[in-house]
Amino acid sequence: MPTILGIESTAHTFGIGVVCDGKILSNIKSSFTTEKGGLIPMEVAKHHRENKERIYSEAIEKAGISEDKIDAIAFSQGPGLAPCLLVGIKFAKELSLKLKKPLVPVNHCVAHLEIGRITGAKNPVMLYASGANTQVIAYASGKYRVFGETLDIGVGNFIDTFARYAGIGFPGGPAIEKLALSSEMIPSAYPEKSSKKIFTKGNLIELPYTIKGMDVAFSGILTNLKQKLDSGKHSVEDLAYSLQEFVFAMLVETAERALAHTGKNELLLGGGVACNSRLQEMCRIMCAERGAKFFCPEKSLLVDNGAMIAYTGEILFKKGIKFSNEELNKIDILPRQRTDEVEVSWK
Ligand code: AMP
Ligand code: MG
Repeated sequence: MPTILGIESTAHTFGIGVVCDGKILSNIKSSFTTEKGGLIPMEVAKHHRENKERIYSEAIEKAGISEDKIDAIAFSQGPGLAPCLLVGIKFAKELSLKLKKPLVPVNHCVAHLEIGRITGAKNPVMLYASGANTQVIAYASGKYRVFGETLDIGVGNFIDTFARYAGIGFPGGPAIEKLALSSEMIPSAYPEKSSKKIFTKGNLIELPYTIKGMDVAFSGILTNLKQKLDSGKHSVEDLAYSLQEFVFAMLVETAERALAHTGKNELLLGGGVACNSRLQEMCRIMCAERGAKFFCPEKSLLVDNGAMIAYTGEILFKKGIKFSNEELNKIDILPRQRTDEVEVSWK
């Protein structure tokens, strides 16, 4: 039973997890946040450098093991912000040399998917909704295939950018979710529905709905939201509510189409935006309506974390995918690595 340490550093979070035989022994992280303004890669990398040793000690201590029990060091190789990825790979290589243990490079997006196994999902379509990435992924014919994705920015970045525009700090997602709850439906706006079941709880404002085939796009909606906010005619609560309703419906629609195309009957939600209760609810409803099973890992495994890297690293390690101390110079970061470029030799 190997014990694997996993390092995550692709974006805002520096995390380390320890996994043994598919069991998570520890999952410690530190995330870069701001009161106002967004995420500047060099500042985030600095945050990672300043916290890595502490996170490492805490992860080892929480796991209740000594360093020499670690059999391999897994790390997030990409995709991600280069300055942040560099902190992770450097630390991983240092540990690999210090402990004389091999290195296991892991694709961050695949890790979000693989950790879904812990919830019982066996062969799911995954709706991966995170800061930088938005993809509908499923395993088919020897690879993880991208069935649909964003054509511009990730859904989390989209939400964060709107939040920043509205004067909210990073991350904006949780704040937008909270604001959306305060949006109230104006009954007079729905006179024809007054005696029927009303599906909207908040004050729904019409926004663009951008699906192109299996792909989605957010920049037009972002411009529209900014204009609506600037007009002074709409409250930020109503815009937050409408943003969620329109954008999550787009995501759920593509996920449903991928389920139909692939004939799979499991949906797995992943990525930080998956923490959103309304997105989870919409997915649950869609799955119930088509008789599919819905899986959503607990929050600590949804957001970027080291445990999912260790968990995926263990799967790869067991299949012999590892690099010895002599081979370390063969491995570099892959900031733009795509999910469907990953050689899936472990399945
Ligand atoms: P990740 O890159 O997967 O770690 O996810 C980070 C993204 O998730 C950020 O863009 C956050 O704003 C977003 N996020 C976190 N919690 C929520 C939430 N409750 N609702 C919407 N987005 C969220
Ligand atoms: Mg992520």
